Amino acid sequence: MTTALKIVIIGAGYGGLVTAIKLQRHLKNNEAEVTLVNKHDYHYITTHLHMPAAGTDHHENARVKISELINEEKINFIKSTVVQIKPEQKEVVLEDRVLSYDYLVAGLGSETETFGIPGLEEHAMTIRSINSVRLIHQHIKYMFAKYKVNPSRTDYLTFVVGGAGFTGTEFVGELADRIPVLCEDFGVDPSIVKIYNVEAAPHALPPGLPGDLVEYGMDVLRRKGVIYKLSSPIKQCTDEGVMLADGEFIKAGTVIWSGGIRGNRLLEQSGFETIRGRVKVDPYLRSLQYRNVFVTGDCAVVFDPDGRPFPANAQIAVQQACNVARNLVYITRNEPLEPFVYDYKGTVASLGKGEAVGLLKTIKIKGRIAALMKKVIDARYLFVIGGLPLVIRKTSIR
Ligand code: FAD
Ligand code: NAD
Repeated sequence: MTTALKIVIIGAGYGGLVTAIKLQRHLKNNEAEVTLVNKHDYHYITTHLHMPAAGTDHHENARVKISELINEEKINFIKSTVVQIKPEQKEVVLEDRVLSYDYLVAGLGSETETFGIPGLEEHAMTIRSINSVRLIHQHIKYMFAKYKVNPSRTDYLTFVVGGAGFTGTEFVGELADRIPVLCEDFGVDPSIVKIYNVEAAPHALPPGLPGDLVEYGMDVLRRKGVIYKLSSPIKQCTDEGVMLADGEFIKAGTVIWSGGIRGNRLLEQSGFETIRGRVKVDPYLRSLQYRNVFVTGDCAVVFDPDGRPFPANAQIAVQQACNVARNLVYITRNEPLEPFVYDYKGTVASLGKGEAVGLLKTIKIKGRIAALMKKVIDARYLFVIGGLPLVIRKTSIR
């Protein structure tokens, strides 16, 4: 009698969760024993997090119970935190037990990269998880309340967002939409509130977007009240604000850092070869060192034909998950593996309510049509993980 293969998936983000869902659909009974481990009992929809962070949507719309998404008769779900991977022993150490595996899928996502800038770890908040965005949301309201009891401290209502990549840009768009509501609620003159988006590069938004879309996006956000500080990186963060490279100090009650990401540290700490924390993989998304470890999403690094790493995003994570799940099914059936090929479909960045910019393959889109497309992309993902009922439950019309 042969025993079923043991597959352990760590992380139930875009990569890990979709791998589990695809395995549950395609594996036949007894072909493999699949275990999914995640530190929360919910999956969070990272691509929504800028909204609950600013308070323009409820955080419940950005998370779903994992038990609603998987069939626990087919997938064994463990809510626990991975503390170590022991690839030589084929073991994963959790906070409360040790799991052994034949095949591991690592989907632990990314962490904030602070590049060693003094004070950021201690004084800046980040848009990374349900808990981190709940903190930002509460903090923003707290700053309004503090200002009301001490109106000489206008710096309480100064908000600095470090980094104007996609995360920083999407967040300032939401924050700019939220400020008038908070001003009304707290009885504050809106001209007192300042939103600074500080960016090391000479423009906001990533270099991959065409110049006219970048200009459009920045114009929209400037009209909403965002003040750009460009070509002047943050050099230091204190409990009073940020110091820029040009010597300017911006006194601020709130600093949000969205200046970059790196792969989850646990993988390099467990001995995997990485580039900025992202594991080097072969064409089948297996670790170069351990062929029984597949890596998906932000903690894998995959290169484009020109040798540049593809950006870490949800689109590539989902496609990788589908490829990994297919290959695991092939392994159980002794069939040849399929290499991963990224099918880039485009990118859309939100600029707040009713505004966005993006590229669909090579077609430029902006304004309402782009905002609508962003909703379609988000809805499509919800459909993949939870079908139409989840789309209806989690999609807000605005
Ligand atoms: P994640 O989705 O981050 O999942 C990692 C999972 O691992 C989480 O569930 C986490 O709880 C779990 N985990 C981590 N450590 C442990 C541990 N030690 N033990 C147990 N579990 C653990 N991309 C797009 O394509 N489009 C967008 O519009 C977009 N918007 C974004 C907006 C924001 C604000 C952010 C921050 C990112 C956005 N991205 C977007 C990027 C995208 O969200 C990520 O690339 C994607 O989530 C990567 O998926 P992943 O599975 O690698 O990691
Ligand atoms: P990022 O690395 O893409 O952008 C970080 C930005 O911070 C860069 O523009 C960088 O120049 C700037 N920066 C770095 N150091 C700085 C400093 N000291 N001072 C000021 N600015 C500084 O990070 P991100 O925006 O968090 O995105 C992370 C990943 O998630 C990316 O791969 C992105 O594509 C993806 N994402 C996609 C979307 C979307 O598709 N709509 C939304 C959010 C995130």
